[in-house]
Amino acid sequence: MPSPRLRFAPSPNGRLHLGHAYSALLNATIARALHGEVLLRIEDIDPLRCRPELADAVIDDLAWLGLTFPEPVWRQSARMSTYRAALESLRERGLIYPCTCTRREIQAASGAARDPDGAPLYPGTCRGKPVPEAPHAWRLDIGRALARCPGPHAYTAFAPGEPDTVRTAEPARWGDAVLGRKDVPTSYHLAVVLDDAAQGITHVVRGQDLEAATDLHVLLQRLLGLPTPRYHHHGLIRDAEGEKLSKSLRSEALAALRGRGVSPQEVRARLGFPGGDTVGTEP
Ligand code: GLU
Repeated sequence: MPSPRLRFAPSPNGRLHLGHAYSALLNATIARALHGEVLLRIEDIDPLRCRPELADAVIDDLAWLGLTFPEPVWRQSARMSTYRAALESLRERGLIYPCTCTRREIQAASGAARDPDGAPLYPGTCRGKPVPEAPHAWRLDIGRALARCPGPHAYTAFAPGEPDTVRTAEPARWGDAVLGRKDVPTSYHLAVVLDDAAQGITHVVRGQDLEAATDLHVLLQRLLGLPTPRYHHHGLIRDAEGEKLSKSLRSEALAALRGRGVSPQEVRARLGFPGGDTVGTEP
C-alpha cells in the first residue's frame, strides 16, 4: 500500500475564504488520522484569472492558518507540456476532436439537456470535422471513449470513521467535455487527473460541488491508464455549533478576517477544528 497522500488544490483567482480554509483544514485532519501527508497544488491554468501574486497570497493565508506543505509546491501553469502530451496521445487514439464553437453558438444549437454544472450539453457540432486553422478547443468524444472503456465505472468513497462505499460513475452526463481549452492545452478535468496521478495522490478530499466531476475523472483515469484515488466530497462548512455558517461569513476572505484581528485559532474553532495547534501534517 502506498503511504496516504492528499492534496489541497486551490485556484488562485482570488483570496482564500472560509470555505477554502475548511477544505484545507479537513485535508490536514484526515491526513493526520491516516498518518499521511497533504501536498499543496496551485491550480493556475487560467492565464487571465490566476495571478502569481494571488498564488503567493494563498500560501501566505494557509501559513497564517497554521498549514505548511512539503516543497516543491506544484503550479499547474508550469506543467503545460505534460498536459499537451496527454492531449496529443488522446488525439492519436481518436478520442478527442477540435471544436471552434463559441459559448453563444453552443447555447443556440443545444437542446434542453445540461451537464452537471448546468451548462448546455455540447451538441456535437464539430465532431468529425478536420483540424481548423482557427483557435480551437479539444473535446472528448464521449461515445468513442465509452466504446473504448465501456464500464461500468465506479470509485470508492470514504469518510472518516465510516465504512467505504462504492459509487457508480456516470461520465456520459458530461457529454463531449472540453479537455483542452482554446487558450491552454488542458482543462481542469484533464490537469487534475494527470496531477493527482503524477503526485501519487491516494485520497482526494474536496467539496461536494466537485462530486459530479469525479464521474468524468474516473473515465479519464481509465483512458489514460491512471490509478483512481479514493474520494471524500465534503459538504457545506458548518460552524462549531453545527449551524451552517452564514453566507456572508462563509464568503469572507481570510485576509479580511485577519485584518479585523480575528485569530487563526478562532477561525479553526469556528469551523469545528478544535485544538489550535494540533491540526497540520507535521508530527
Ligand atoms: N482547483 C479546484 C478549485 O479550486 C479544486 C480542484 C480539486 O480539488 O479537484 O475549485
